[in-house]
Formats: sequence, C-alpha cells, structure tokens
Amino acid sequence: MAAEHRAWIALGANLGDIRSSLRGALAALAALPGSRLAAVSPWYRSRAIGPHDQPDYINGVAELRTTLGPHALLAELQRIEAAAGRERSERWAARTLDLDLLLFDALVIASDGLVVPHAHLAERNFVVFPLCDIAPRLRLPDGTRVTELRERLGNAGLLATFATLEQLDD
Ligand code: AMP
Repeated sequence: MAAEHRAWIALGANLGDIRSSLRGALAALAALPGSRLAAVSPWYRSRAIGPHDQPDYINGVAELRTTLGPHALLAELQRIEAAAGRERSERWAARTLDLDLLLFDALVIASDGLVVPHAHLAERNFVVFPLCDIAPRLRLPDGTRVTELRERLGNAGLLATFATLEQLDD
C-alpha cells in the first residue's frame, strides 16, 4: 500500500457564491484518489490584499491525508480551481477559488511549478491563523512553529471568524 502523506491546503474565495465554491472544493478534495480530509479549519473573513476595491476573502485551511505525491496533488488543485471557473487574468484579480499547497509532510520542494512550503505562507496571517487552529503543534521544515508565525504576524486584516461555512453571513 502506498504511504499516506499529510498535506495542508489553503482555500480562499472572494467572488461569486463563496459558500458553495468552498463547499465544492472540500468535496472535490475529499474525492481525490487515495485521499481523505482529516481536518477543516474555521473560516476567516479577511481584507483583500492588492487593489482595495476587491471584496473581502473567506479563507480556511484543510488537512488532506493522501497517497498522491506533491506534484500530482498540485495538478489536482489546479484542476479543481479551473473547474470552479477561476479567472487567471491579473495577479491580484478577484478569485472564485484559490487553492495553495502550503505544506507537504516535512518536505522542502523548489521546482519550477511548485514551491513548498508555499512561498507566502510565513507572511499571510489569513493562512497561518486557520493552519494553527487545526495543527497547533505543527512546525515548518526549518523547525519554526506555526504558532510562532501567528504571534509574529498578528491579526491585522482578519475581520471575523466562522466555525462552519453554514455560519457565513452573506
Ligand atoms: P496562485 O494561483 O496565484 O497562487 O499561483 C499559482 C502558480 O503558483 C502556479 O503556476 C503554480 O505552479 C505555482 N505554485 C508554486 N508553488 C505552489 C504551491 N505550493 N501551491 C500552489 N501553487 C504553487
């Protein structure tokens, strides 16, 4: 039997029917071959970075246990994003669905199409807060505790939290 890996995936959306795209993304992750959802964080409403005329984001993190390798998993994340109708026109463009591979076991990967830990993990509190909620003892491959990152970043721009998608206000 292939070994099961632990992958942490950031989910974000700020356009369209956010609740249903995030719900659909969780279902699509759970349905990936050799994969199961081990944890889903609370959801954070966060102020969009980049141009300020964008709607707020809803962000969360899921832990996936999977026999897929990191590159195969990234390809699946991109397929799920594309299916959710994300436009890739502009760097900070609003997104129907954004999926990022944050961490994969304790691997460090620096290839053309895939960088793990995710290049912006350590600077984005809207990713670090939900990650800490489901994995408070987790460390980055370099030994940094995720809770230490949370302390360092603080909660600026995090506007509200919701335990479940059902509780999202419209
Ligand atoms: P974005 O959708 O803006 O987050 O960026 C997507 C691009 O980042 C794609 O071309 C990916 O190949 C690349 N990328 C590199 N590392 C990662 C990662 N850990 N998770 C998601 N995308 C990544």
